[in-house]
Amino acid sequence: MDLEGGCVCGAVRYRLTAPPLIVHACHCRDCQKMTGSAFVLNMWIEKNCVKTDHGAPKSFTLPAGSGKLHEVFYCGNCMTRLWSKYHAAPGDTLLVRVGTLDHPERVEPDVHIFTRSKLPWLQLPPGKPAFEAFYKIPDVWPAASQDRLRRNIAGQS
Ligand SMILES: [Zn+2]
Ligand SMILES: [Zn+2]
Repeated sequence: MDLEGGCVCGAVRYRLTAPPLIVHACHCRDCQKMTGSAFVLNMWIEKNCVKTDHGAPKSFTLPAGSGKLHEVFYCGNCMTRLWSKYHAAPGDTLLVRVGTLDHPERVEPDVHIFTRSKLPWLQLPPGKPAFEAFYKIPDVWPAASQDRLRRNIAGQS
């Protein structure tokens, strides 16, 4: 089943043609500020698997913690932020905001990151991987997702 979503006003609609490589709950301060919330939920996926049917999102760039650029894509009409491209991330991949899905309940975070700035009242579910900052991909990702990323880096997907 394709995951579909869009911005609040409906000017930008998208569908994902593959399951996410991994789903992050990011508790870093930048994500808290950009969402105005406690954390953000992001689906990491190949850019080629994000299809926009009509209306292309606009973008702006910010510095990321890595020192490389963070490009944020948003609806030019209602300003909903739909996905990000982190230029430090391997491959040609995007991080799509789970909250923009029509059915966000279909996606759960696989891993919690940057928990060093997690808000203290929030208790993470027991048994879920959680990291003070980031992690090494081979330590966390399923083998199938690592294969997909390798193919993407090689320009094959
Ligand atoms: Zn919109
Ligand atoms: Zn973050």
